[in-house]
Amino acid sequence: MSPSKVALTHDGGHTTYGELADRVNRLAAELRRRGVDQGDRVAYLGPNHPAAVETFFAAGLIGAVYLPLNIRLSRPELDYIIADARPSVILEPSGEELPEAEPIDEPVTLDDLCLIMYTSGTTGRPKGAMLTHANLTWNVYNHLIDIDLRSDDVTLVTAPLFHIAALAQSYLPTMIKGGRAVIMPAFDADRVLELIEHERVTSMFGVPAMYTFIAQSARWPAADLSSLRLLECGGAPVPEPLIHTYQERGLTFLQGYGMTEAAPGVLYLPPQESVRKAGTAGVPAFFTDVRLDGGEILVQGPNVFAGYWGVDEPATEDGWFRSGDAAVQDEEGFYRVVDRIKDMIISGGENIYPAEVESALLTHPGIVDCAVVGVPDDRWGEVGKAFVVSTEPVDVLAHLDGRLARYKIPKYVEFVTALPRTASGKILRRELK
Ligand code: ATP
Repeated sequence: MSPSKVALTHDGGHTTYGELADRVNRLAAELRRRGVDQGDRVAYLGPNHPAAVETFFAAGLIGAVYLPLNIRLSRPELDYIIADARPSVILEPSGEELPEAEPIDEPVTLDDLCLIMYTSGTTGRPKGAMLTHANLTWNVYNHLIDIDLRSDDVTLVTAPLFHIAALAQSYLPTMIKGGRAVIMPAFDADRVLELIEHERVTSMFGVPAMYTFIAQSARWPAADLSSLRLLECGGAPVPEPLIHTYQERGLTFLQGYGMTEAAPGVLYLPPQESVRKAGTAGVPAFFTDVRLDGGEILVQGPNVFAGYWGVDEPATEDGWFRSGDAAVQDEEGFYRVVDRIKDMIISGGENIYPAEVESALLTHPGIVDCAVVGVPDDRWGEVGKAFVVSTEPVDVLAHLDGRLARYKIPKYVEFVTALPRTASGKILRRELK
């Protein structure tokens, strides 16, 4: 397209599309020299860095399978994934200049595996979701149809690239349009605001926890956000007060819903509906079908993955993938994602979704973060327990009284200084339990 156009900005340095293509080709040649074959796994272990996307493209160019590893995992957790996926090489960011190479032109088809990404393991052992080139391509189509990214967009990549949202929902659509990606090595709320001003960022994806921290930054009130065109948010329940905080600054805040197994976009809130339908995750992606089965979201479409690595049983039923998430649909077809079915608390026969209680807690200005889990109770089977991070003493129960039905109000409240989270911003509920 335009080899001289800037593709990546990282630590103040720039890489053009031409330079990126050349670096990817050299790396692909190097992988071949090291004996990497079609179908072999090529792991990347490192922070967000141009090397992460170079490894992704280089592996794809020779038909190898990209395996991004989460740097925040402990040694035994990494060992588990490495033993399961058996990569041929593990690359890390390196300043090494690779020798020039002849252009590589391997026959790689859309149905070949492109990457294996391990799910966050918030609900058990991480599973290696296998995504094909077609899965990722269709996800980009879906994304570009709903979220109107342009060639002059500047996207801030702040979520970790070893999770699907940053790679496929933020980086790839920007690249395909010929935009510029500003890659942050790690999330930092103050730095996000600095980069938005300095690089004139127009779009970004973040998980709800990131947007919460950004709005709590001391820089937030005076930050110049005038360059921002759209903010995408998903990966965990999005509390409504958070959406309002961004809308009050005149920003287009788009909730989406997805999962690694769907590469990942499933539901999109179209920008033109972002205010009227705030709080919903929107409608199914253009090429993807969604239905509810007993309240559970089922997904089918060309972006739905090829199964779990090393698992023989099919991961879909007649092509439908069971998400494990509960949702309700309004009369206009917009979905409101309620929560994970597994996190649901059953108290005296009534269902309580932690996300709803957390959203009500966050309407209190003194509560900056919170999580609700179920704990055993002799009388009710289970009751809610709230973990609250606050900036001032808060009467939590009085705040919820009248806002929620009695049975949804947590029986116990514990004040903590921070909540345990995964790198993708999800609360580690099993640790709280
Ligand atoms: P594991 O299966 O190992 O627990 P995981 O489910 O966290 O991992 P991901 O693919 O990272 O793996 O996350 C997908 C999940 O994130 C969805 O199934 C859903 O529970 C949650 N999620 C994504 N977007 C939203 C949203 N807008 N609202 C509520 N939950 C969301």
